[in-house]
Amino acid sequence: MELKCDFQVYHPLGGASYVFEHDIINYILRKSKKRKIVISVGAQPNSSPHFGTLCVFSLAFSLAKMIKEISGDKEASVLFEVVDTAPSKTIEINEIKYQKDLKDSNKMKDSMNDFQEILDYFSEKNNISYSIRNQNAFNSQKEIKNILKNIISKQDKIRYLLDPDNGRLRMRCTCPKCGLVDKEGINTTIENDIIKSICPEHGEYIVNYMKNSNRVEYNTPLRNLVRAILYGIVNESSDYDYEIIRITGGDYAGFYQEELLYKVASILGYKVSSLPMILYCPQILDWSGAKLSKSLYVKEGAYSDLPKYVINYSFLKEKFGIKGLDVIMNETVLWLNEPYRLFRNYSVYYFINLFEKGRL
Ligand SMILES: [Zn+2]
Repeated sequence: MELKCDFQVYHPLGGASYVFEHDIINYILRKSKKRKIVISVGAQPNSSPHFGTLCVFSLAFSLAKMIKEISGDKEASVLFEVVDTAPSKTIEINEIKYQKDLKDSNKMKDSMNDFQEILDYFSEKNNISYSIRNQNAFNSQKEIKNILKNIISKQDKIRYLLDPDNGRLRMRCTCPKCGLVDKEGINTTIENDIIKSICPEHGEYIVNYMKNSNRVEYNTPLRNLVRAILYGIVNESSDYDYEIIRITGGDYAGFYQEELLYKVASILGYKVSSLPMILYCPQILDWSGAKLSKSLYVKEGAYSDLPKYVINYSFLKEKFGIKGLDVIMNETVLWLNEPYRLFRNYSVYYFINLFEKGRL
């Protein structure tokens, strides 16, 4: 079968694209209570950033710039939350999965160079500053220990919501001697203020999370929950002169957040209306409508029919130079100026056409 395409682009309205057809910035400004706005993005630096991540980062800087320009009196910046507790490798010992964190690997150092280069480029182009925060710094914040205490005390109400298969609260700490961590929490128990775990080589170790919250790590749904609760507290608190808006990929929109974030936060006693705004970046989809996956490309040789530059930043730079990022930036500015373009996804062919033939 040969796929044919007439390259006509339509934007049928529906849902958010209908409500926010012409404006999103003024809506955001009306909701904001503080003068400084921080746009938060996150990524696991395990390789050169994939195309979807470039779109998320570009959208964050474009949003910050437009908030500044349209408000006239707001400050805006970008915060990159580095998920350096993601696995650099996973090993199985006695049928239990352990991981080594990215923060302890060379993989992260290499890919952070690319992230840094992209952030510097977007920062300079948009005249917007940015900061980088790792998980240790995130978890060192004074509010975290009480958030954890609350989650742990109510764990029986939420653990099957966050982990429907096993009902485990996936909070964990690395072995202080070798850095291995019990990925699925099989040998990890949480009682009172103590997280107790077992290293296959060094035996039992404990972490008092009320004293050392910086050492606690989470799986993705739990990290998503803790982060949203913390941002909500920061946004409401006069201790902080800024408020946070998150941007993340559209694959997390909808059912995931409703079931794993908003309902769980509500069960834990947090006001859902105080949780931060999350703006979802359009996903870049393959011919079948699945999101482009960098790991499928690496592990299984997927997308051999596509030009490599839609896979990750290093290929994009190889083909177009760092200026290739301008194509993405022009697009994210357009999404915000005409937000009916923001609340939808794009096929990879849409972007290939932008790169090779210019605007449709
Ligand atoms: Zn160990």
